[in-house]
Amino acid sequence: MKIGFIGLGIMGKPMAKNLINAGHQLVVLDLNKASVEELKGLGAETAASKVELASQCDVIITMLPNSPEVKEVVLGEGGIIEGAKPGTVVIDMSSIAPLASREIHAALREKGIELLDAPVSGGEPKAIDGTLAVMVGGNREVFDKHYDLLMDMAASVVYVGESGAGNVAKLCNQVVVAINISAVSEALTLAQKAGVDPDLVYQAIRGGLAGSTVMDAKAPMMMDRNFKPGFKIDLHIKDLNNVIDTSHGVGVPLPLTAQVMEIMQAIKLDGSGVEDHSSIVKFYEKLANTEVGRTATEEVKS
Ligand code: NAD
Repeated sequence: MKIGFIGLGIMGKPMAKNLINAGHQLVVLDLNKASVEELKGLGAETAASKVELASQCDVIITMLPNSPEVKEVVLGEGGIIEGAKPGTVVIDMSSIAPLASREIHAALREKGIELLDAPVSGGEPKAIDGTLAVMVGGNREVFDKHYDLLMDMAASVVYVGESGAGNVAKLCNQVVVAINISAVSEALTLAQKAGVDPDLVYQAIRGGLAGSTVMDAKAPMMMDRNFKPGFKIDLHIKDLNNVIDTSHGVGVPLPLTAQVMEIMQAIKLDGSGVEDHSSIVKFYEKLANTEVGRTATEEVKS
């Protein structure tokens, strides 16, 4: 069985590598030729076009920025739909609007092609480790057949419902992550300005109720002034746009998410759109005229 993989960015490249390590034969494609060459060096085949890739693969995974790119790659001129044979399964692991997933699925079904929307959480470190959390929407039988393949990139793969449900779960994930990063930023800025070492505060509270995966991933980045993405502010804004569109569509006001969205817009205007979303802390630092950093010289006793 050949697997096509389109989109070898921060996430897609390590995910594709894990599939190769698990013994799968991959055919890869990306606009970035250097990434394609890197995967070729690890044993992947390459394709001159999406049609050529699609015509020789039974499963095609996409890991692209947003709905427009996925629509273009799957349904656009020279897209997957033109090359794929009936029975092919497309697994879109990008985070896109649930409505877009449903539209793409409907168009593919007319040609006998199935789609799973299978976005991920965990960021680059878990993509590298192969320990992502995958949330999947689509046909249950198709999901069951591809569970093992998804587990080759993940620590957990959960079926959440029909087409689009995977991306609804991902939007919920992005709400929790965005608000949680803001909460960590607010707290560490408070510690800094109150004259208590933010690192000691972090060490003191991370084992209690305030602790979280987000805190463990992002607090050290904030204190180390390491804003290399990771997950770019620009992509999180994209997700929150999808969140707000979807929530208004179904009639759910999201006041906290709306606030964090505006914070991210301010960060972007300051030129940090391509930085990691931990750079939300800079917004709070500007308000409080301070900078979060480690100040302790002693080792933490716990
Ligand atoms: P990225 O920008 O690093 O990678 C996207 C890749 O898609 C790039 O290599 C780009 O060249 C390629 N691409 C774009 N348009 C293309 C086209 N038309 N044809 C072929 N290739 C094309 O993005 P990323 O961080 O890897 O994110 C990918 C998806 O995963 C996004 O939907 C993102 O929201 C989601 N996601 C990212 C993270 C993270 O921490 N980075 C975590 C979870 C989910």
